[in-house]
Amino acid sequence: MSQSSPTQPGHLYVVPTPIGNLEDITLRALRILKEVDLIAAEDTRHSKRLLNHFEITTPLISYYREKEVQRSAELVDRLRMGTIIALISDAGTPGISDPGAVLVREARAAGIEVTPLPGPSALTTALSAAGLTDTGFLFLGFAPSKQSQRRKLLTSLTSAAHPVIFYESPHRMADLLKDINATLGDRQIFWARELTKIHEEIRTGSATELLALCGADKIRGESVLIIEAGLQQSTEADNLDELLIWYRDQGQLSLKDTSRKIAQDLGLSRSEVYQQALTMWKDRT
Ligand code: SAM
Repeated sequence: MSQSSPTQPGHLYVVPTPIGNLEDITLRALRILKEVDLIAAEDTRHSKRLLNHFEITTPLISYYREKEVQRSAELVDRLRMGTIIALISDAGTPGISDPGAVLVREARAAGIEVTPLPGPSALTTALSAAGLTDTGFLFLGFAPSKQSQRRKLLTSLTSAAHPVIFYESPHRMADLLKDINATLGDRQIFWARELTKIHEEIRTGSATELLALCGADKIRGESVLIIEAGLQQSTEADNLDELLIWYRDQGQLSLKDTSRKIAQDLGLSRSEVYQQALTMWKDRT
C-alpha cells in the first residue's frame, strides 16, 4: 500500500493478532500488516517478534496506554496527511482491554475511515467453548485490583441475567475467586487458561473448587473466567416459576426441552433452569 497523495486522507486498520498460537493470524491481517505505511503497536519490541516471524518489515511506532491521547493526536495528523496505519496490540483485538479506543475514536472524529478486521480475542475464544449462552453476556474486562471496588462491582452483578466474563492475570486469580464466592455465592465458573497455547487448560467448577486448584498449584498464564448467571432477580424467578408451571401442565415438551427453551427466552443459565424445573416437575400433583 503506497502512501496516498497528501490531499487523500489515510486509512486506519484495526488488526487482531494471535493470543498464543501464531497460526491464528488471518491471511488478511498478514496482507494488511505488509501493505500499510506504518504499524502502531502497543509494545514495538514484543510485536517485532511476531512481524519477524512473518517477514513483515513495515515500520513500527509505539502506541501504549500511558501515551494514548498524545500518540493518537500525532497519528491522526499522519492519517490526515494520507498515511495508511494498522493498529495492533500485544495479543488479541486492540481496544478489548487493550489500548486502541482513543485512536479509533479520534480518527473517526477526524473523518478517517476505520476498518476493523475480525480475528483472535481471548473473549470470543473462551466464550465459544463455554456453551453457556446463546443470547447475551456481560464482558467487564479486568475486575478492579482494589478489593473494596472489586466486591462492590461483583455485588452489583448479583441479579445479572447473563453470564459475566472477566479477564484475569495469574497472581490475582485467587482473590477474584474468593470475592466471587463472598458476593455472588459459590457459582459455577468456566475457566479458560493459556488458550491456544501448549498448556491450554479449560475447566468448570464452583468458585471454591477452582480456588482449591489455585492453592494446590501456582497458577500460570492468563485466564478468562465466565461466571454463570444467577437467579436472584425476583421478577425473573417469578417469571420462571410461572413459565415452568405452564409448560409442565400443558405437557407438550420434555423437562429438558422446556429448560432449554425457557433459559433461552429469559436469558438464564440452562443448568439453573433445569434444576428449578426438576423441583417443579417433582411437585406435580
Ligand atoms: N485484547 C486482548 C483480547 O482481545 O483478548 C486482551 C488483552 S488483555 C491486556 C490480556 C488478558 O486477556 C489476559 O490477562 C487474559 O485475561 C486474557 N488473555 C489473553 N490471552 C489469553 C490466552 N491465551 N488465554 C486466556 N486468556 C487470555
